[in-house]
Amino acid sequence: MPRLGSWIEPFPEGIYVRPADAWIDPSQPKPRALITHGHADHARGGHGEVWATPETLAIMDARYGEQRGVETGYGETVRLGEVDVSFIPAGHVLGSAQILLEHGGERVVVSGDYKRRPDPTCASFVVTPCDIFISEATFGLPVFRHPDTGSEVDRLLHRLRAEPGRCVLVGAYALGKAQRLIMELRGRGYDEPIYIHGAIERLCRLYEELGVNLGELRLATGAPKSELADKIVICPPGALNDRWSRRLPDPITAMASGWMRIRQRARQRNVELPLIISDHADWDELTQTIREVAPREVWITHGREDALMHWCRLHQIKARELNLVGYEDEDD
Ligand SMILES: [Zn+2]
Ligand SMILES: [Zn+2]
Repeated sequence: MPRLGSWIEPFPEGIYVRPADAWIDPSQPKPRALITHGHADHARGGHGEVWATPETLAIMDARYGEQRGVETGYGETVRLGEVDVSFIPAGHVLGSAQILLEHGGERVVVSGDYKRRPDPTCASFVVTPCDIFISEATFGLPVFRHPDTGSEVDRLLHRLRAEPGRCVLVGAYALGKAQRLIMELRGRGYDEPIYIHGAIERLCRLYEELGVNLGELRLATGAPKSELADKIVICPPGALNDRWSRRLPDPITAMASGWMRIRQRARQRNVELPLIISDHADWDELTQTIREVAPREVWITHGREDALMHWCRLHQIKARELNLVGYEDEDD
């Protein structure tokens, strides 16, 4: 009897599904790619056919120009070669999917990036039982336990109100985190205009076109200093410390990221107000998910594989680490 999942071949540049002749999230251009979500470390330009959810394809079209896309909605199953392929919500960013592959009586789920807590900008993760669960492990260490998102947003609002005349400048990734932060603020009743850096504008507009209503957004560039006092400004992390931020009224520098758990990371970016808001599963969510999915094997990608490998062994689940390259944290 062949080894479980012998038809799934991990290469450094991605996972090759031989009986479908397709690659998942390849870091090199391939004739046929299945893409879990729009972050740049998973979705790259230059492929032939691109199979993805309509939202992910819209994001890729916006970033790389029009793709030879084949839209596959959540819950649809398509036949590729000898494999049935389904896209299932991953709860990570708008359009993000786990990919279920069924072949020869075996079920394999490639998680892509995922999280378990509610996100007002995207569909929630769906637990999908399978034989092999290929899981990310970005925050795969017990030290990573993300606090409640609402209380982090409350800390931001409290600080804003405690220091009149200043603004809070929040670094947040342009795809996913920025829009989620805006929606979390709206959900806490914050209905002031939110100011954004130009680099975030296009994706915010795209989210709105795809049905996520972000409320009133204004471009921070060009707004007079006085208008920005007592306001929230969102920029990509790279703009936090650059010349651009000097136009703002005495900004309180914040950043929304799972890495803000690590003080040193906050210090490196001169972040005064670290907000632990992550679009990835934390340690408890990773292990809870493996328990619920109950696979026979877990294969682990980008992240701190060792601790999760050890946890799997302790729980009598066969585990293997895949050494894929090119996954960075655009999206933490
Ligand atoms: Zn990733
Ligand atoms: Zn991602």
